Amino acid sequence: MNVVLLGAPGAGKGTQATALTKLLGVVHVASGDLFRRALSKNTELGLLAKSYMDKGELVPDEVTIEMVLERIREPDCAAGVLFDGFPRTLSQAEALDDRLAVEGKAIDKAVYIEVSEEALVKRLSGRWICRDCQTPYHAESSPPRVSGRCDVCGGELYQRADDREETVRERLKVFFSQTLPIVDYYERQGKLLRVDGNQGIDEVSAAIRSQLQVESA
Ligand code: ADP
Ligand code: ADP
Ligand code: ZN
Repeated sequence: MNVVLLGAPGAGKGTQATALTKLLGVVHVASGDLFRRALSKNTELGLLAKSYMDKGELVPDEVTIEMVLERIREPDCAAGVLFDGFPRTLSQAEALDDRLAVEGKAIDKAVYIEVSEEALVKRLSGRWICRDCQTPYHAESSPPRVSGRCDVCGGELYQRADDREETVRERLKVFFSQTLPIVDYYERQGKLLRVDGNQGIDEVSAAIRSQLQVESA
């Protein structure tokens, strides 16, 4: 099964992804995490991506598509992938479909987590991320058990530079202009599932499971 998680920055994609990948038996592929990992290793790709991420702009399609398609060629992705943060443009969505089609595969469902703009800004401004495993936390809605430490791996929590308010506004603008068209793209293909993301984390998880018709273990 191949599923796309759609939603604005801060909608809760990363938060929902971990449990959902386990439930579906697929691998989590998050383009933003791949860029941040490349940057932490100081690779050319990471440095290039940083120049766009810092401004809240999208990394060019060509580079992004190549990176993600390369990732999903790895053997662990054969059983299926949960895509998070990719595709973000129509060209990316088409490139992904073309690539999957070569292997006789396709995107089965796209889950769109819808959240009000006001809530998105609040979520991003209070977000803390694990430096090691990238699990997201929130100062108010989902604090870690030990302050500054990841519940999952004990890693150090930090605030992303692009979660500051000016960059957040730009990222939201980019989402509405460049990414929203792919909601229609999946809707036209009859693959779109909408979930109200303006609820607590557990309620959103339950809504996603119900839309995908999968039960929790
Ligand atoms: P968010 O929390 O907004 O979902 P991500 O971690 O997915 O953040 O993305 C952070 C940044 O990485 C984006 O603002 C963009 O610069 C870059 N990025 C991530 N995914 C993509 C993509 N599919 N296409 C282009 N740029 C991307
Ligand atoms: P995305 O990956 O879509 O950018 P995240 O999963 O990183 O979003 O979530 C953004 C922030 O909002 C994080 O700080 C996270 O803890 C918090 N968050 C996620 N889902 C909810 C929710 N349903 N209610 C309140 N806060 C949430
Ligand atoms: Zn961690």
